[in-house]
Amino acid sequence: RIEFKNVVKKFGDLTVLNNLNLTVGHGERVTLIGPSGSGKTTILRLLMTLEDLTDGYIFVDGAPLTHAERGGKRVALKPKEVSKTRRRIGMVFQQFNLFPNMSVIENIIEAPVHVLGKKPEEARVEAKGLLEKVGLAAKADAHPMQLSGGQQQRVAIARALAMHPEIICLDEVTSALDPELVGDVLNTLRDLAQETDITMLIVTHEMQFARDVSNRVMMFDGGQIVEEGSPDKIFTDPDHNRTKKFLEAVL
Ligand code: ATP
Repeated sequence: RIEFKNVVKKFGDLTVLNNLNLTVGHGERVTLIGPSGSGKTTILRLLMTLEDLTDGYIFVDGAPLTHAERGGKRVALKPKEVSKTRRRIGMVFQQFNLFPNMSVIENIIEAPVHVLGKKPEEARVEAKGLLEKVGLAAKADAHPMQLSGGQQQRVAIARALAMHPEIICLDEVTSALDPELVGDVLNTLRDLAQETDITMLIVTHEMQFARDVSNRVMMFDGGQIVEEGSPDKIFTDPDHNRTKKFLEAVL
């Protein structure tokens, strides 16, 4: 369960999120849609602690992520406390972000070994299982450069899963891919959604994928939730004009 409470995010004079409140339940698949610049990516980056929160709180299963309220004051948590909660969240980026100098399997076992302290052999066995799951068992010893964008992105998904995240953030994971490679990545994610109860927070322009996978869609504009509802409701019968206009432009 993820909770944003009165979250404010500014970049200099630009207020991107203004007192945002949102809750995502355990196992929910929530897609964030909305025009460019509406703050969708910022929400994922805040959750991944890749950006500093200007004000407000984020909770993961009730545990404060970066700041806590103590004695009526907002206090920053120690890095160790932050990373303990942060570790429960995985992320897949638009640009894969694999380590180019490591093989596929080394990419996957890096964090389990160095962050979780897993034995390399154990991590390798698990990584092979994950590679099989994403259809890349034969590529364990390849280097990222030798793979297509779609294959690299599936490695990035396996790498995120190797940390056993309870929550996974997917930020435009198909945007950098050639159109013919998008399907494989989306199918991998569809399988993941079906086979696990990982909470998913998705930012995507693939509206069909959003419809297939999510159980809730949130429409953002100007750093606020304009409306939210089931994919059926939002995509076929939205209440707000801004949602209608946005969908007309992207569908
Ligand atoms: P898109 O669909 O284009 O990715 P988005 O809804 O994900 O858009 P964000 O990437 O969250 O939007 O950006 C929200 C606003 O914050 C934009 O106006 C963007 O220019 C600004 N912004 C994001 N990161 C930074 C930064 N590091 N420094 C300054 N401004 C930033």
